[in-house]
Amino acid sequence: MKHYTMSVTEKELEKLNKVYQYHQVEDKNPYLLFHAKHNDIEILGYKTGKVLLQGAEVTHELVAIKTHLNKEDYAAIGSDEVGTGDVFGPIVVCSVFVNKSEIPLLEELGVKDSKNMTDQKIIEIAPKLAKILIHSLLILPPSKYNKLVSEGYNLNKMKALLHNQGIVKTSSKLKESVPVILDQFCTPQLYFNYLKDETLVYRDIDFHTKAEQVHLSVAAASIIARYAFLVKMKQYSQKIGMKLPKGAGKEVDEAIQILHEKKGNKGLNLIAKMNFKNVTKQDLS
Ligand code: MG
Repeated sequence: MKHYTMSVTEKELEKLNKVYQYHQVEDKNPYLLFHAKHNDIEILGYKTGKVLLQGAEVTHELVAIKTHLNKEDYAAIGSDEVGTGDVFGPIVVCSVFVNKSEIPLLEELGVKDSKNMTDQKIIEIAPKLAKILIHSLLILPPSKYNKLVSEGYNLNKMKALLHNQGIVKTSSKLKESVPVILDQFCTPQLYFNYLKDETLVYRDIDFHTKAEQVHLSVAAASIIARYAFLVKMKQYSQKIGMKLPKGAGKEVDEAIQILHEKKGNKGLNLIAKMNFKNVTKQDLS
């Protein structure tokens, strides 16, 4: 059984209510505007502006609904990063090309922003995405990150350099040119300023906050990046003989103390971003 939820406007919901008027089934749920059954798919239109599809194979119905609503899919490259809020582990940037024909499949796989997905779901679908989709993955290990910090790079400059590299790489694998969507982390002006010494700069970029909601390519990028991050965290944990916590909370503080005693600054430098407060505020002597 597959599920798919989409958000629609009030007008669009009315439109779908009409589209399915001859396929409605009785449902006393007061939150529903309509409940229809079409080609073995249950279509539930909620007054809150959500439409839920349920069935063995929802792709066809989804394409039909989009056509009714004049919501055309389009091809794009999306780029996103993870690991910037985690003391342990690398920064991972992924740039993904998603073709128009691949969008229904991604929807069926349940692709959405990785922040709203469990690690388990990411581990389940990321390898499939990486296999199907043209993409570039860039991993900046903590040792390299720490070196760049010591050379005066800030986090946004590192992100800009990585995204630019990823986008240049992914677009070079395509015959056509498509929109490039970047999950915005600084102003476009600053972004290009960070890249002023680069020889190859991809300039035609659409910057969006909440870009995962703009195009599925960004969501796919966030999922593949998150997966690569999880794999690296597992490798680091095995190497160091201790499960490394994510994020930048109290558990991380404690892990840093323990690891510092075991491995010293040199060992920490290989797995932790040393300029985080979790590290700098501690007495590691
Ligand atoms: Mg992002």
